[in-house]
Amino acid sequence: MTERISFCHPPPSSNLQASISGVNQVEPLTQQLNLYFIPDILFWDPLSTIPSLKGVLQCPKEACKRRNSFLRAVGWKDGKTERSNPRQLYGLTAPVELVSRVYRCQLNNNEVVAHDGHILMQLRNTDRPPFILSHLSGITRDVQTAISSYVLSELTFSRIANIMKHQLLSSLAERCKTLSIHYPTVVDLSPSTLEQDIKSMWSTPSNDFIETIFLADFWEKEKLYTHRMISEVGTDDWISMDHTFKVACNIGIKQKLDNQWKKMFDSLFCVLNEKGQVMGWQLTKRTSFKNIRDLIQRINSPCES
Ligand SMILES: [Zn+2]
Repeated sequence: MTERISFCHPPPSSNLQASISGVNQVEPLTQQLNLYFIPDILFWDPLSTIPSLKGVLQCPKEACKRRNSFLRAVGWKDGKTERSNPRQLYGLTAPVELVSRVYRCQLNNNEVVAHDGHILMQLRNTDRPPFILSHLSGITRDVQTAISSYVLSELTFSRIANIMKHQLLSSLAERCKTLSIHYPTVVDLSPSTLEQDIKSMWSTPSNDFIETIFLADFWEKEKLYTHRMISEVGTDDWISMDHTFKVACNIGIKQKLDNQWKKMFDSLFCVLNEKGQVMGWQLTKRTSFKNIRDLIQRINSPCES
């Protein structure tokens, strides 16, 4: 469905070597050096790569809804014009530019980009896109997988942010090293001496952004987790359940007015089977039974069947 191009080690051409020895060619040399740091490119064109989507993928615009206004490919978000800039994504070992196909609809000639949220919704049962987009930013699926593994290994979000920073920095240092082999006359080439534009491009997500990505992944998979937890019914026909209060202290919001921490819940109610596997959980305010009745009933129904 996608093609990923990585510019990890582009070989220097004879033109590049010639530009190094030139007297008044500082600018071309800088430009050539900068080529080593351009982001990887991720092409996204589901309509052309999944034949079954032809005559299925529809224009999501209001005027075309439910009118079978099918889409066809007409261009790319490849940065050739100001309106066609690709989306920037955080990647694991390099920044990534998402170059998406632009589609046009049959009935009203509306243009829709292939990473439009409504298009991705139509694809949800076909394939998972190799990226996740937020309002202004985005990440590759690799980054999301890494974040989830780190969180499951009990690393804090700030520790994860640090690990990602180091990964990217060592990848950048690797490119500087390759570059210094091809251009031995260029001295003092290291991540810290690169142009500000390149440094900004090679940035990593903040703690908050990493947290948001993890939570988005969690909510997306919540039904799957719940189903799996409920299916973990034990063999000895007993379960244990209780409220725990400590964990709820960390779930809340900082109020803008007085900067005070406001807890959103009093406790976490947790149900375990005889193996200690979690069958269900719910955050609650107060310990009344009515707060947890739905959870108990959900767990009870597969046990009875
Ligand atoms: Zn349309």
